[in-house]
Amino acid sequence: MFTAFLLLLSACGGDDNSSDNDKLDVVTTNSIIWDITNNIAGEKINLHSIVPVGKDPHEYEPLPEDIVKSTDADLVFYNGLNLETGGNAWFSKLMNNANKQENEDYFPVSDGVDPLYLEDSNEEGKEDPHAWLNLENGIVYAQNITKHLSEKDPDNQAFYEENLEEYVAKLQELDAEAKDKFQTISDDKKMIVTSEGCFKYFSKAYDIPSAYIWEINTEEEGTPNQIKDLVTKLNETEVPALFIESSVDDRPMKTISKETGIDIYSKVFTDSIAEEGENGDSYYSMMKWNLDNIYEGLSQ
Ligand SMILES: [Zn+2]
Repeated sequence: MFTAFLLLLSACGGDDNSSDNDKLDVVTTNSIIWDITNNIAGEKINLHSIVPVGKDPHEYEPLPEDIVKSTDADLVFYNGLNLETGGNAWFSKLMNNANKQENEDYFPVSDGVDPLYLEDSNEEGKEDPHAWLNLENGIVYAQNITKHLSEKDPDNQAFYEENLEEYVAKLQELDAEAKDKFQTISDDKKMIVTSEGCFKYFSKAYDIPSAYIWEINTEEEGTPNQIKDLVTKLNETEVPALFIESSVDDRPMKTISKETGIDIYSKVFTDSIAEEGENGDSYYSMMKWNLDNIYEGLSQ
């Protein structure tokens, strides 16, 4: 009924956007979820992602276009686990404005993941959101996305499931590689240092500790005390490399580098994929980039 009404509106009102009205309209909050969805659904859906590539998904101000696309969407995917609903809670406000209902119109793709929590907390609303940095969780995301696409669009269920199977096999292979990767690095060098403490799930999955300047992008980023604490910690190690996320301000990490004499080895992709055509421009490719560069950086 609603779809028919929209079709009519679109026919009378002229073409207000390029979306194909026979297809499911799907919105994702960020580029990582966009890419996983694209791998499952391809040309079968109209797909729009909200937070631009390279930008921070924790805090965002939706544009008028995001509100229109969300209002028109048949299905909205968000990460959950305190990502888009932490900080300024932009996603909750957007779904309210778009008149969407949780678990009817919008779904957390992290459903079923074992949550890890921010330090010194263990309660709902204090989850660490970066579950996708463990490839096993990325597989759960892909499965959830496939389930909801199939429910809303049963005609294409076989297509979605076939793509899921292929995609999961590819991610599993990379996951196995990741689990082998860091074993040869000596313990005093084995630490991933980034600006935000986004590697908790990665650390647990691939057995490599991590350290950070600030714990999550919704808190103050790069205060003198945060800098001092990390410098002290690094001075007790032989860690040979620092990393800088593609989606944060690089100045605090440059200060850490200057004060410790440890070079920034490369960027890593944590909260966004790379621009199209660059290394890291898909979930698979960003995870592969991170694994290869962290391994090379810490093997020096
Ligand atoms: Zn983050």
